[in-house]
Amino acid sequence: MPQTEEYVQTAKEQAFLEKVESPQYQREIINGLAPFIDGKAPEDLKEFYSSQELVQLGGLKGGERDVEKRMPVKVTRHYAELARKSKPMQRLVKASPDETQDLAGSEDPGNQMDYSPVEGLLHKYEMGLMYVVSTCSAHCRFCYREELIARKEIARKDGTVAKKGLAKIPEITAYIKDFNAKVAANGGRHPDSGREKLREILLSGGDPMVLNNNKIAAWLAALAEVGIESIRIGTKEMAFYPKRFDETFFAMLDAFHESYPDVGVHFMVHFEHPDEFLQKDDDGNYIRDRHGIPQWVEDTAAAMNGLLARGWITVENQTPIIKDINDDPDALRLMQREMKRVGAENHYFFCGRDIVAYRAFNIPIEKAWQILNESQKGLSGVEAHARLSITHYKGKTEVVAVTDKPIPGLPGAENGVVIFKILRNAGSAPDRCKVCIVGRNPKAVWFDDYEDRVLFDEAGLYAYTRVKDATTLTSN
Ligand code: SF4
Repeated sequence: MPQTEEYVQTAKEQAFLEKVESPQYQREIINGLAPFIDGKAPEDLKEFYSSQELVQLGGLKGGERDVEKRMPVKVTRHYAELARKSKPMQRLVKASPDETQDLAGSEDPGNQMDYSPVEGLLHKYEMGLMYVVSTCSAHCRFCYREELIARKEIARKDGTVAKKGLAKIPEITAYIKDFNAKVAANGGRHPDSGREKLREILLSGGDPMVLNNNKIAAWLAALAEVGIESIRIGTKEMAFYPKRFDETFFAMLDAFHESYPDVGVHFMVHFEHPDEFLQKDDDGNYIRDRHGIPQWVEDTAAAMNGLLARGWITVENQTPIIKDINDDPDALRLMQREMKRVGAENHYFFCGRDIVAYRAFNIPIEKAWQILNESQKGLSGVEAHARLSITHYKGKTEVVAVTDKPIPGLPGAENGVVIFKILRNAGSAPDRCKVCIVGRNPKAVWFDDYEDRVLFDEAGLYAYTRVKDATTLTSN
C-alpha cells in the first residue's frame, strides 16, 4: 500500500476552490419514527403514518425485528409532500413491519469489501467507486447500502469486524497515483493484475449531494489533479430535495469545468417512479399540457434542466425494480419516455440484491425481466436503451432473455430458460459477454434459486470464488 502523505492542494486547485460558494440547505428532514410516534412531526405531515402503523412499528422497537435497527428512517418534506398522492413513493420511504419478517440476506452484498484496497474505495471494475458519505437526504427502505447507512459492523476477509469507512482525499489520491504510476511504467497495464489505468471514479455513498458544495468541489479537484478522466456523481437528491441543485451548485460545476475542461462530469440520478417528478392533480392523475405532455414538478424540472443545459454534463437514470414501488410496466414506460424526452438517458434497471431482508423488496428475476420488457413495448429505440442488470458477486450481469417455450432436445429447458450475460467483471473484465443459461424458476429472486437447474455456464456464475487480494485482484 502506498505511503499516505499530507495532501497538498495545487495553486490551480486552490484558485478553483476559492470561487466556490457553499450555502446551507433547509431540507426539513424528519429523522426516525420518534417524531411521528411522539406526535412531534410537523402538523401537516403527522398523517404520513397512520396510528395503526405507528402502534405496529412501535411494538417492534428494541427487538430483533426493530425496523429502524435494520435501516434508519428518514424523509424530506419535499418527498413526503409529493408522496401524499403516491402509494409507491410512500412505500419507498415508509418503514413497514414486513421488512423485518425475514432477515435473511448478506451483510456485505457482493462481498464488496473484497475489492477495497483503501478504506472507502471499491476498485472492482475499470472504474473506482467511493463512499464519500454514509447518509442521504431521505432513506429508501430497500437500500442496497443499508449496511453503510445503518453503520453496521461488517466482517472483513482478514477476520476483522468494523463499520465501512469513508473515503478520504489523501488516501484515495495516494492510491490512484501509485496504481496509475505502476500502470504507466508497465506499458499501460498493471504489472500484477493486467488492469488499465484507473480513469473513472463514481462518487457514491450515501448520497454525495448531501455534502456541501465546498466538499464536493474538493473531491472533484483532487480527482482531476490526480489524472482521473471522468467523474460520476450517483445521487437521488433530485427526487429527495431538488432545490439542492441551485445556482451556487451550478456555478461550482461551471468553475470546475472552466478549470478542468478535459474531465468528464456525469450524473447518475435515481428515480424509481414517475410520481417522483411529475405533477399530479387532486384525483391522482398526471397533469398534462394541451398536447398531452406530462408536467414536471417545478423544482425537479429546474434541477434536471440545470444539469442538461450544460452540454458537457450527462445525466443517466438507473433504478432497481422493487415490489409495490415500480413493478409496474406502465409507470416504467412513462418514466423511460420522460427521461429521454427531457434529455436524460435510461441506463440500468436492477433486479433486487441479496441485502438483509431482500425477500421483502425483491420481485422474482423473471418477473422483473417481463415487467421491463413489457414497459419497453411502444418505446422508440432511443427510449429503450436500458437493460436489466443483476449484480452477481462476480460482476454486473444482464438478464438478457427469458423464454417461454422449451428448447427441443435440451433436458431441463422444458419450461423455458433464462439467459444471463456478464457485462462487467472484476479486474480487466475477462469474462465479459460470457453467458450462463438456466432452466426457468419463476420464483427465483436470487442466483441460488437456480442452483439446481444450470444448463450452461461459460460465465462461471455458479463457480464463483472470492478474490484473494483487492490490490491485484487475483482470485483463488
Ligand atoms: S438514495 Fe441510494 S444510497 Fe440513499 S438510501 Fe436510497 S438507495 Fe440507499
